[in-house]
Amino acid sequence: MRYPPESPAEVERWFRQRLAGLWPMALGSLSLRRSPCVRRSCHACETGEQHPSYVLYGRRNGRRASVYIPDDLAAPVRRALSNGQSLQALLYEVGQRYAQALKRERARRR
Ligand SMILES: [Zn+2]
Repeated sequence: MRYPPESPAEVERWFRQRLAGLWPMALGSLSLRRSPCVRRSCHACETGEQHPSYVLYGRRNGRRASVYIPDDLAAPVRRALSNGQSLQALLYEVGQRYAQALKRERARRR
């Protein structure tokens, strides 16, 4: 793909501007998990339905990590995941643009 003729510094400026609008960010997945509660006799647990709750799955040092997410916080976490996908796409694009800008700069110096 063709990008505008830009210098490495211009690529950096472009990247930082795009990055500024991307908070909050997260990589991982938000899942609904069913688990039993601590009550002695609970209809939901006795019928096997249990209690659904959100969990954010991610990775830390190559290991799977998870955080319980209360229902009312699922929306902002979803937004963070969406921005995380945008960041990943942005990183792929900035890599291509930066590499092209480096080559252009080197060609100009010769
Ligand atoms: Zn229960």
